[in-house]
Amino acid sequence: MIASSHYDTIVIGAGMSGLAAGIRLAMFDKKVLIVEKHHTSGGLNSFYTRNLRKYDVGLHALTNYVPSHIKGSPLAKLLRQLRISREELGLCEQMGSSIKSNGRCLRFNNHFELLESEVAREFPHEVDGFQKLLSFIKNFNELSLDNLEASTVATIKLFIKDPELINMILLPLFYYGSSQENDMDLNQFVIMFKSIFLEGFCKPQEGVRRIIRLLTHKYRMLGGGKLMNCAVKRIIIDKNKAIAIELADGQQVTANTILSSAGAIETQQLCHPTPPIDPTNIGQLSFVEAILSIKTLPRNWGFKDTIIFFNNNKELSYRKPQTMVDEGSGVICFPENYQFLEERLPQEGSIRMTLLANYDLWNNLTPALYRETKEKVLKSLVNVLKEILPGSNQLLEGQLIDTDLFTPLTIKRFTGHMNGAVYGCPHKFRHGQTPYENLFLCGTDQGFLGIVGSILSGISMANLHILKEK
Ligand SMILES: Cc1cc2nc3c(=O)[nH]c(=O)nc-3n(C[C@H](O)[C@H](O)[C@H](O)COP(=O)(O)OP(=O)(O)OC[C@H]3O[C@@H](n4cnc5c(N)ncnc54)[C@H](O)[C@@H]3O)c2cc1C
Repeated sequence: MIASSHYDTIVIGAGMSGLAAGIRLAMFDKKVLIVEKHHTSGGLNSFYTRNLRKYDVGLHALTNYVPSHIKGSPLAKLLRQLRISREELGLCEQMGSSIKSNGRCLRFNNHFELLESEVAREFPHEVDGFQKLLSFIKNFNELSLDNLEASTVATIKLFIKDPELINMILLPLFYYGSSQENDMDLNQFVIMFKSIFLEGFCKPQEGVRRIIRLLTHKYRMLGGGKLMNCAVKRIIIDKNKAIAIELADGQQVTANTILSSAGAIETQQLCHPTPPIDPTNIGQLSFVEAILSIKTLPRNWGFKDTIIFFNNNKELSYRKPQTMVDEGSGVICFPENYQFLEERLPQEGSIRMTLLANYDLWNNLTPALYRETKEKVLKSLVNVLKEILPGSNQLLEGQLIDTDLFTPLTIKRFTGHMNGAVYGCPHKFRHGQTPYENLFLCGTDQGFLGIVGSILSGISMANLHILKEK
């Protein structure tokens, strides 16, 4: 039930970008309504409870960690714009992470010198090239919305010749933020390189719940309106303008502007009449994620990495696989391997493993086969884990208490993205514009990815198009 049916702005989606945009607008006394089809906020970064255990949907790590005295960083900008203090987020730094590819290993943490020394140890012939790449990255203005798209693979080869080092640099950046098969837009590469290697990983001890509670509380205190469990069925267009949204029950709500985090093509498909859609810009990259709950903390068994990025293929293959899952590369996350307060360390631990998956193959299964395939894939992934983590046999057999597997269909359910495309469409809309003058995009398909990226996207699109700030 909506008290009033006309708003300054309607925001579609209560994911990270939608909530951030809503806060920013409500802060400037705009009358805002967020409409979300699920009953919980957070979108792809939500949470759920299963067998009395609390799980985050997506959170491995918050990127962009910098110490509090560093000013002007993306994290500082995010906090300033949303008027949130660092203490409210309660961030804990990672313990350290690794990139393992074809028998080689590079470790990194929140101090860039470690990665530099690891590159010098493992690839002494590339020290000069790596330094030149670094200086190119530091001088690149990745946030200019006017930058054209360019190929990362072609650019990185100008600096580094050893294909294995190229693979190892690209592996984490692809998995944490590329919507393109076997490549990445150069702007996105620079954003990700800075946010993962030059800045770093962290997270609140309570996981994503703390971030979502903070954002939703802030939005509510500012008087923002929210409709949950309520899908937008259509965006009604009249003379090149979006004039209203239509909800599932047929009710219409009008607004001066609409900001959508539902995805670029998905938003166009909601428009009535529907504008022409570019079929070549539909995302194909989707993931499975195995979640294993364990009786004790993996760190007690000697597993101290926060994240391990692994690749066993000679050529890094970051593309939609022809099989249900590509076991050749992926990400392993130990969600408790952060510098948490000792007295609040949990008793139980967990391991999450993310791999590329084929949406169509998962989507074509009958419900019974879907359940059966999930079981089979889970068993197979546990064996992959045992190979990548020598000495983990006992941990993964005697200590395992529960398992779950997210599939590309889960990602579709949480985001609404076609093909369960985790990072949306390959080619982004950096200005957030659509064919209609008052309908804008924020979040994944505007082009700032991940949790920090999507929050910054919500802020910057609200500033640029509605609050008209540069
Ligand atoms: C397995 C996995 C692990 C990840 N781990 C990390 C991580 O560790 N760190 C990190 O930074 N990022 C991570 N990510 C990425 C991160 O989750 C996303 O980039 C980010 O959450 C995107 O936010 P968003 O607001 O752009 O979109 P979304 O989260 O997709 O939000 C869009 C919202 O719009 C709603 N919606 C869509 N259509 C409609 C409609 N018609 N009507 C009403 N509502 C609608 C959806 O229900 C959704 O709530 C991970 C992703 C996955 C899949």
